[in-house]
Amino acid sequence: MTQASTSDPQLDVVVIGAGFAGLYALYKLRDGLGLRTRVFEAGDGVGGTWYWNRYPGARCDSESYIYSYSFSRELEQEWLWSSKYPEQPEILRYLDHVADRFDLRRDIVLGARVRSAHYDDAVPCWRIETERGERVSARFLVTAVGCLSAANVPQIPGLDRFEGRWVHTGQWPAEGVDFAEKRVGLIGTGSTGIQATPRIAAVARQLTVFQRTPNYTIPARNRALTAADWDEIKAIYPEIRQRARDGRAGFPFTLAGERALDFSEEERNSVYEALWQEGGFKFLYASFGDILRDKAANETASEFVRQKIRAIVKDPEIARRLCPTDHPYGSKRPPIDSDYFQTYNRENVTLVDLRESPLVEITATGIRTQDAEHPVDLIVFATGFDAMTGSLLRMDVRGSDGRRLADAWEAGPKTYLGLQTAGFPNLFTITGPGSPSVLVNMPVAIEQHVDWIADCIAHMGRSGLTRIEARPDAQDAWVEHVNAAARETLFYEAKSWYLGCNIPGKPEVFMPYVGGQAAYRDRCDAVARADYAGFALRP
Ligand code: FAD
Ligand code: NAP
Repeated sequence: MTQASTSDPQLDVVVIGAGFAGLYALYKLRDGLGLRTRVFEAGDGVGGTWYWNRYPGARCDSESYIYSYSFSRELEQEWLWSSKYPEQPEILRYLDHVADRFDLRRDIVLGARVRSAHYDDAVPCWRIETERGERVSARFLVTAVGCLSAANVPQIPGLDRFEGRWVHTGQWPAEGVDFAEKRVGLIGTGSTGIQATPRIAAVARQLTVFQRTPNYTIPARNRALTAADWDEIKAIYPEIRQRARDGRAGFPFTLAGERALDFSEEERNSVYEALWQEGGFKFLYASFGDILRDKAANETASEFVRQKIRAIVKDPEIARRLCPTDHPYGSKRPPIDSDYFQTYNRENVTLVDLRESPLVEITATGIRTQDAEHPVDLIVFATGFDAMTGSLLRMDVRGSDGRRLADAWEAGPKTYLGLQTAGFPNLFTITGPGSPSVLVNMPVAIEQHVDWIADCIAHMGRSGLTRIEARPDAQDAWVEHVNAAARETLFYEAKSWYLGCNIPGKPEVFMPYVGGQAAYRDRCDAVARADYAGFALRP
């Protein structure tokens, strides 16, 4: 494999990260615009999320045929996903294939974590330095560092004394982890813990799940995609893609408009039951239009899921602990699962409710809660990420006049359209805070951002402009709009990572934009048409 030389002097663009976003950014900027572009990636391979998250049961929960790129008709036609929700190795194979097919690797430097990125007003350019000492300068900096890429290992007293092994799901060892005959403690019941639980339980001697907040999850009902499915999809692929782009959440299906409480309980439950049987995200998006806005409407969906939990889980006491009652369905990122609740019927699985018996410490041989010590040989942290801002702020990013991004975002991230921050010229963020991002089927959001950024840089080239920066007034208005939009929803009803609540000390600000992907795209396009209104452009 050829890797780029790191001694080149000046580049047009540096991209940080080689996941879905970084790979497409490289293709678009290098091959589309002919810019000298280089990608720095911390991992030893491309793929981002799908390089790092190799835990058992890791799979997408957007349907595969739309959890993929749409920029190349040929790629789209030649790739066949095995199932609706393929597992991590298959998604990583796809991204590796993309890197090879478009000859991207020669401009990607692997194993190169960017330590700092400083804007040099004098040249002007961005100066980028990696942890192993590579230095480059570039006219533009594009961060494609991922919204869910900064692993969160909670500070639990005693972890350093633990004599067994511990792993975080987002930094899973490539060689895998052997659970056979082990007593495993799994902390966390978000999407990741919910995917991993059944798979670990099937192999381990004993699995103890430590749950802080019970979660609603809908069955995935994964199935193989047949030749007939593919004939159907490929015949209308462009139309499916367009529907996804025009959708609120980046999915091609029709979103529900009706209000839940306009129907009788029986009618509502038959809608929920049909979607429960179908599986996946449609339960949230295609049931009723107000379940993320109206608490009473939401309660009908929440209670439907609780009833399912009570029906599936045989021990009523365990079912009670698994039933979420402290937040509305969908106010945390909703997981989808394969046999999650069923797993609690197994003899070798124990559920520890950390609300009833809080976690105290990790001992040499186990996990101690207020009531008991649970002996474990291996601890799996399914404790999520410092989401949306973590990977950006773990770098030392300084803009004009040496201003630190960490200071600019001290009270929470501030951006204009999620794309730029005032004071940080020529720095673009893909799916950054203030954009629909994680509320959307992400390849749709990523492609829209990369296309917009590429069009903007091309426009600057044509017009003899070299510097673009968000105007503070436009940024303030956008931040206010993002907050106001979130306040109309139920998203503030949960202590979620959307709000930064999972990281002690992180400002509580709703980070993604809830206005919907299509409306957001239209807004970005209108801004571009109006000579990039809200941005200051200079020769
Ligand atoms: P990432 O894939 O996270 O890539 C960012 C890359 O930047 C990483 O490789 C990282 O190493 C690198 N990086 C970060 N900091 C630095 C640095 N300082 N220097 C160098 N490199 C750096 N979304 C969906 O829409 N549908 C799904 O079904 C779905 N499933 C998911 C499943 C899991 C387990 C997880 C964790 C997330 C899932 N997501 C899903 C969200 C997922 O993150 C996005 O879909 C998508 O993969 C993001 O791509 P990205 O390129 O923006 O970021
Ligand atoms: P997460 O949703 O943040 O869940 C982390 C879990 O760990 C929560 O149950 C949390 O409890 C718990 N936790 C965190 N700190 C803890 C502590 N100190 N003590 C005890 N428990 C603690 O993380 P995730 O499950 O990795 O998922 C993150 C996101 O990645 C998802 O929301 C989704 O966007 C994406 N993802 C997607 C898929 C998929 O699409 N297939 C799969 C996995 C992940 P609290 O709830 O009480 O904070």
